[in-house]
Amino acid sequence: MEWSRLGKKRDMPGGLWLKCESCAQMIFRKELESRHRVCPTCNFHFTLGARERFEITLDPGTFEEKWPDLTPQDRLKFTDTIKYSDKVIKTREKSKLQEAIIAATGEIKNRPVVMAVLDFGFMGGSMGEVVGEKVARSCELGIETGRPVILFTSSGGARMHEGAVSLMQMAKTCGALSRLRKAGGFSISCMTNPTTGGVTASFASVCDILLAEPGALIGFAGPRVISTTLKQELPKGFQRAEFLIEKGQIDAIVSRDKMRDDLARLLSYYQPAVKAVL
Ligand SMILES: [Zn+2]
Repeated sequence: MEWSRLGKKRDMPGGLWLKCESCAQMIFRKELESRHRVCPTCNFHFTLGARERFEITLDPGTFEEKWPDLTPQDRLKFTDTIKYSDKVIKTREKSKLQEAIIAATGEIKNRPVVMAVLDFGFMGGSMGEVVGEKVARSCELGIETGRPVILFTSSGGARMHEGAVSLMQMAKTCGALSRLRKAGGFSISCMTNPTTGGVTASFASVCDILLAEPGALIGFAGPRVISTTLKQELPKGFQRAEFLIEKGQIDAIVSRDKMRDDLARLLSYYQPAVKAVL
């Protein structure tokens, strides 16, 4: 799978050192963790787990998880090397996550928000029905309460194990964001490395404000697939955040240490059109 080449395999669990996928320097794991997984040499932003993302974004003590028990149905009885239902159970044990997304309410510098974060550590942050459902419910909660909705993404795309149901989440999440906008709501998408496939092609790209972390790979098909299909060499930096901002696909690149401040500033511009129940 594409996502296995995007740092997951090189990021060996338990190892004291790991190799930066951008500058190839060896990094002491503890140092990387203390810098919230930003390379000390080249500033590459490694994928961050959902729980840590909440920790560095929300005001302490304000995190309240929503819909933690949603579970995917194995409608297709899908089996690759193992049954999909068994894969979900195993991944839960290994990742200590229930699904590839955590949704919550909380505050950023005293401004109430609904926030949902994809976690690449759970089946490559893939979007199945639970991811789609939590994004949609986050938007509905945004409409009900007047809270802005903030979505952080890192994903290999739609979850193939769920077939058409996973693809349907693209339309569902876009519909939910559209209803949020019509109700006077406000949404911010923060795309982190890597955001690809059906997630890029749906909710990550249709929020009011589109942010990306430096160096994040953002695209639909991966660069290797495009290059092989077109039989062309791709331009330098293709599909990276810095390339996309030149093309006008995103609004700003925000480094991890500035993200909380910038989100707070953006939130300060927003006045809910709906009656806020905070
Ligand atoms: Zn580096």
